[in-house]
Amino acid sequence: KKIHIGVIFGGRSGEHAVSLMSARSVLSVMDTSKYDITQIGITKNGVWYTGEDVLSALEKEDFSGLQKAILLPVPGEASLYSIRDTSSGSVLELAAQLDIIFPVLHGTFGEDGTLQGLLELADIAYVGAGVLGSSVGMDKSLFKDVMRTHGIPVVESITVTRKEIETDLDGVITRAEKLSPYPFFVKPANLGSSVGITKCRSRGDLLEGLMDAARYDRRILVERGLVNPREIEISVLGNQDPKASVAGEVMPEADFYSYAAKYLDGSSKLGIPADLPEDVSLAMRNMAVEAYKAIDCAGMARVDFLMDRETGEYYLNELNTLPGFTKISMYPKMWDATGLPYPQLIDRLIDLAFERKADRD
Ligand code: ATP
Ligand code: MG
Ligand code: MG
Ligand code: MG
Repeated sequence: KKIHIGVIFGGRSGEHAVSLMSARSVLSVMDTSKYDITQIGITKNGVWYTGEDVLSALEKEDFSGLQKAILLPVPGEASLYSIRDTSSGSVLELAAQLDIIFPVLHGTFGEDGTLQGLLELADIAYVGAGVLGSSVGMDKSLFKDVMRTHGIPVVESITVTRKEIETDLDGVITRAEKLSPYPFFVKPANLGSSVGITKCRSRGDLLEGLMDAARYDRRILVERGLVNPREIEISVLGNQDPKASVAGEVMPEADFYSYAAKYLDGSSKLGIPADLPEDVSLAMRNMAVEAYKAIDCAGMARVDFLMDRETGEYYLNELNTLPGFTKISMYPKMWDATGLPYPQLIDRLIDLAFERKADRD
């Protein structure tokens, strides 16, 4: 019997477009002799659609002919309903009875625990981390605090609120400048793909960076910036006994690994495996797994490190619970280099989702 899987993409997130790219890849390699696939697309405004080729519709932002959809959180019968508008009003029709959901979503309302909460209520298996792991992984401020508690090195940072930026900008700047000399990195607490991140070399940059980040989030981090760091990433996979892939390195041509460097100009080079002494890469792999366990992660995560080129000191920068998933993305590429090719990786993630659900039941 085939597994009926709902693949969700798009979403109310600054990473909407990245999700569509990831979903393109995931859908293209899923083995249709094993899986019946139902596409579920979420618009930038949060409207759910289902239908044959929702992905193309979202790419074109043309939703005509699609049916609106809702997932009803009835435990034991996770059902997707389509909503048909008729002259007599909207009617619900069963669109699919789903065994599992694969959220190919990045950022807010997809990677941050909110969707995961809905899926828990619906009592359905889903790929990736649960509510807690997702939300702590997404929140750069909370995440760093948890790492500090576990003795895992992270760069110094402060967290400020949008409100503080609006009412006490001088105070915010004074606190930020106590961190170290420039540069600083300003980041929205809950986002990804470098959206809303500014490298600040001066007080002017800091002002602009704070304003920009405050457009995306209510809470904002200011971090001590490493100068031209090496960027090492590790893929982790598993539930109770997670495993780490070989380490990989991204080498952005740009000033830092910005949104443009990631998705637009194709200039960043990758090194897999990363050129690191064996003991260093082993220590980093262990640290990645430790961080994963510390936040009760499950399924997968890509753990990103920053390394000082001069001293070799490294810091755990962040953990992404639903990392980029195109065929050229780091997460699947690092597994491929570790001996797990992309299609098998998807099968494994689906197995892990069922396993996790069974553990909780
Ligand atoms: P992702 O797409 O990996 O989810 P993100 O939006 O969560 O990205 P980060 O990984 O925290 O953001 O930062 C994006 C990039 O900014 C890093 O890959 C790195 O190039 C640069 N960067 C972030 N923080 C620092 C720092 N403290 N010092 C130096 N560079 C940094
Ligand atoms: Mg991230
Ligand atoms: Mg991310
Ligand atoms: Mg990152």
